[in-house]
Amino acid sequence: MGRAYDYLIVGSGLSGAVFAQEAARRGKRCLVLEKRDHIGGNVYTEELAGVTVHRYGAHIFHTDSERVWRYVNSRTACNRFVNSPLAYYRGKLYSLPFSMHTFYQLWGITRPAEARAKLAAETAPYRGREAANLEEQALRMVGPALYETLIKGYTEKQWGRPCRELPAGIIKRLPVRFTFDSNYYTSRYQGIPEAGYTALVAKLLEGAEVRLGSDFLADRAGYRALAGRTVYTGTVDSYFGYAYGPLAYRSLRFVTEVVDEADYQGVAVMNYPDLDAAYTRVIEHKHFAAGRQEKTVVTREYPQAWEAGLEPYYPVNDEANVARYRRYAAEAVDGVLFLGRLARYAYLDMDQAIGAALEAADREFGA
Ligand code: FAD
Ligand code: UDP
Repeated sequence: MGRAYDYLIVGSGLSGAVFAQEAARRGKRCLVLEKRDHIGGNVYTEELAGVTVHRYGAHIFHTDSERVWRYVNSRTACNRFVNSPLAYYRGKLYSLPFSMHTFYQLWGITRPAEARAKLAAETAPYRGREAANLEEQALRMVGPALYETLIKGYTEKQWGRPCRELPAGIIKRLPVRFTFDSNYYTSRYQGIPEAGYTALVAKLLEGAEVRLGSDFLADRAGYRALAGRTVYTGTVDSYFGYAYGPLAYRSLRFVTEVVDEADYQGVAVMNYPDLDAAYTRVIEHKHFAAGRQEKTVVTREYPQAWEAGLEPYYPVNDEANVARYRRYAAEAVDGVLFLGRLARYAYLDMDQAIGAALEAADREFGA
């Protein structure tokens, strides 16, 4: 007897949605299962007080990939948002990433040559061998003053562990530059879908059937029997019934409120590196779109330990967990494709998730 669908796609985030679109446009019948009550995964946006709100934290699309940029822009219009976050530390504001603005704010330095000399002196005692942990990496990159002010507290709140026990790689993505450019990203393209990410994902899912509130793990054999092939974008350890033990994740709690004033903080993203505040960031959503609404909506982001029932937002890519992940990754399953941030246990940005889903579709259907 023929199966009802060609593809069962578990998860309606960007990874699942891009794959669904690529399959549907080749005439494949797709069923997308989503355990939440909405599509979009972590890029989900919704309207609140007339403002487009990023329910699961600030999502700023940026990429160097011509292919991914064209793919997104041919399905939705992106604005020209540039991320220039600030950090509030003990009554003073600092620019991120580390640029001439930051060096001026911290040390009163006005010229690049002075800043280079100052950073060279600050980092000299720590240079030499490879950094063994995040603290050593930070001291090598920017020295003790910047580390104490802008990195240590933020990172320890974010990851719930001392910086000396965290992998150096986490902060290698923070740029250090000697110009007054405060664009957080160095990518060639950057912007945010004007209609919100949910509209983009809805467009990607147009050719597929979507079932919300449906957990694949509740009836894996029954669901798998519906289609010849399965694309799985949930957590890889849950797929295998935690056979090699659970992988570690970091979770977050988002507290959102409508504030009865036009402008709360004057910027989309304000970081709070001080341990006095339990949250790491305050997002003011209207600034992602230069909004002029009468009220504003802000979200505070509180990091927390992950436990069953919470969303696993960040993989903890330390040595032990990466080794455990490799054991899961070595388990090939006939007819199942593992895709996305959770199934690959990787800190993928949106463009990487989209790019990987397109490449998986190329392999599946031919480029
Ligand atoms: P997800 O969005 O996690 O989607 C997986 C989906 O599968 C979810 O909807 C989940 O409910 C569903 N699912 C899981 N298990 C099951 C199951 N058993 N049955 C049914 N459904 C299931 N990237 C950027 O490029 N720029 C940013 O500024 C940025 N900011 C971020 C901020 C935060 C706080 C976080 C957590 C991530 C951020 N990212 C950012 C990364 C971005 O969110 C990801 O690249 C993207 O969401 C990955 O999509 P995905 O489909 O792989 O995963
Ligand atoms: N980070 C920091 N201070 C900041 C912002 C970031 O020390 O003000 C560190 C922190 O360890 C964080 C990492 O840099 O986990 C990467 O930050 P980014 O904002 O790029 O990551 P996101 O959480 O948005 O994915």
